[in-house]
Amino acid sequence: MTDPIAETCEACGTQMEDWNLTSCCTLSLCPVCGHIKRDMERCNAGAREHAWGGSGFFDDIRTNLTYNRINGLIKGKGSLKILEIGFGAGKLLTKFLKTGNQVFGVDAEMLEINVTENLQEQGYLVYNTFEDADLPESEFDLIYGIHVIEHVVNPAIVFEKCFRLLKDDGFAYFLTPNSQSKGLSIFKENWWNLEDPTHIRFFSAGSAKAMLGNAGLVKVQTGIPVWDSMTLEINSFLRGFAGDSREHGIMGKSFTKVVDALGLPIAILARIINRQLSPTLEIIASKNR
Ligand SMILES: [Zn+2]
Repeated sequence: MTDPIAETCEACGTQMEDWNLTSCCTLSLCPVCGHIKRDMERCNAGAREHAWGGSGFFDDIRTNLTYNRINGLIKGKGSLKILEIGFGAGKLLTKFLKTGNQVFGVDAEMLEINVTENLQEQGYLVYNTFEDADLPESEFDLIYGIHVIEHVVNPAIVFEKCFRLLKDDGFAYFLTPNSQSKGLSIFKENWWNLEDPTHIRFFSAGSAKAMLGNAGLVKVQTGIPVWDSMTLEINSFLRGFAGDSREHGIMGKSFTKVVDALGLPIAILARIINRQLSPTLEIIASKNR
């Protein structure tokens, strides 16, 4: 039954319905576009206390895979003006700097981690929310955000700003958790993407197309990359057994790295057999046709 005070879908305007994942986790699900909103009071899901819950080693692998993917999309285009929303420690942005691009970054400093020296000297870094940051319009060839848009207060404002800041032939690239991942149905409240208390929404292909389209972006393409967050299913599985891991999450536990390394071949195989198990949605959109 639909809650009469349930919120409307921020992507398509339909009234959202309750999805009772477990007795202590209820999500709001759009019955039309598949978009999900998560309210911490209705679905705490044993969330950790800190936003960052990764591990250095696996984060480096992930950064390399993400770099290779985006670099493949800009190959042969020469030196570009690239803006990262939520650059964190700046590892990805540093790679684009080293390959001859002009790099810009915006970060609200939520993660409180140090930025590489190279990037501090040669990149143009703004410490503010993307929404409030003062940035030049019609300037960028590429704007990307890696696991950012599931956190922001108002993604419509973010996408509209991307549209304004992009050059006419520029494009936007995002990775974000996929609301329609089979992993959410299987692992329920243990799905690792629910461990982050600042994950307040999960996009579907439909809601991404609707929201970016509303912002004026065109040729919105979505895909399911099997290479992102490769240990997520293992970590989701471990969350069911780990007891209290609220401070730094399951990846802060000493045994997790070992189990991740041992279980990785099985996790990759599972995704090859069923791509829908993959937790991430890739979104690419252009400013003009
Ligand atoms: Zn919707």
